[in-house]
Amino acid sequence: MASIKHVAITGGTHGNELTGVHLLKHWRQKPQEVARSSFVTEMHLANPKANAQNRRYIDQDLNRQFKLADLNNHELCGYEQNRAKSLNALLGPKEDPRVDFVIDLHTTTANMGMSLIFNTDDPLVVGMAFYVQQKMPHATLFFDPADRLEDNFLTSLGRHNGFLIEVGPIPQGLLRADVYNETKTAVLHCLDYLEAYNLGTVPDLPERREGYRFIRKVQLPENELGEITAMLHPALQDQDYQPIAPGDPFFMTLDGETLPYDGDGVVYGAFINEAAYYDAHVGLSLMEKIQIERKPG
Ligand SMILES: [Zn+2]
Repeated sequence: MASIKHVAITGGTHGNELTGVHLLKHWRQKPQEVARSSFVTEMHLANPKANAQNRRYIDQDLNRQFKLADLNNHELCGYEQNRAKSLNALLGPKEDPRVDFVIDLHTTTANMGMSLIFNTDDPLVVGMAFYVQQKMPHATLFFDPADRLEDNFLTSLGRHNGFLIEVGPIPQGLLRADVYNETKTAVLHCLDYLEAYNLGTVPDLPERREGYRFIRKVQLPENELGEITAMLHPALQDQDYQPIAPGDPFFMTLDGETLPYDGDGVVYGAFINEAAYYDAHVGLSLMEKIQIERKPG
C-alpha cells in the first residue's frame, strides 16, 4: 500500500469563494489542526490576484487549466494559465507529482449542501468519499470520472488526484459561519482518513454508495444576439439533486412562459442557477444517479 507523504490544501482557486481563503488563514495560525503524524500538510492560496480583486478569475477559470497538454503549452499565458503552470511546478509536475493528494476548497451559490466532488475511481479517493459521508451523512457524492492527465481540475495535480469540497448555497464574495464550519469539518475528516490510511486503521467502509455522475451542462436559452431570454424555472430553483423528468418545468421566459425539460428520461440537477456559470450562460448541470463502487484498494 503506497503511503501518503504530502497533502496540499488549496483555497481561493476561485478568488471570490472566501470560505477556503479564510480557512487557510485560520490554519496558518493553527497549523496543528491540520497536522497529522504520518504526512505533511501544506496550504496554498491558489489564485491570490483574483482573491485580492474579489473575482472568480482574472483571465480564465483557474480550475479548468490543469490538463497536461495545457500545462505544457507555453502559448497559454493568461494569468490563470500561468498560475496553473506555477502550481504545477509547486505541487506536481503532473506526470510525476510531488504531492500525493490535493484537497481543494470551493463554494457554490447553488443549493448543493455539502458536495464531495471527485474525478477518479482510485480506491483511496472513493474510500475518502465514503468515509466523509459516514461522518457527515448529509453529504452528497458527486462523481465526474476523468483520466488524471486529461483532467483540468487543480485536484488532478495530486498523485492520487484529490477531493473537491463544494459547499453551498452561499453568495460569492462573503463568508457564512455555517458554510465555514461545514467545510472545516469535512477537511478534518479527509485528513483523519488519510492518516488512518497510512496507519492501516481505516474503519470498515461500504462497498458502494449512491451518488451522482455528471452528464452535461445546459445553456440558458438565448436569442440571436446571444442574450439570455429565460431563467431557471422557479419550480427548479434550489432543487439540486432532485429528479427532473421530461415535461417538468425547466425554464421560464422573461414574459413568464414555462419551457419544459425536453430530454429523455429522468435526470438530476446540480449547480442549479450557479452565479459563476453566467459568464458562459450555463443554467445548471445534469447528473445521473449511480451506485459508486469502491474497488479493492
Ligand atoms: Zn469554485
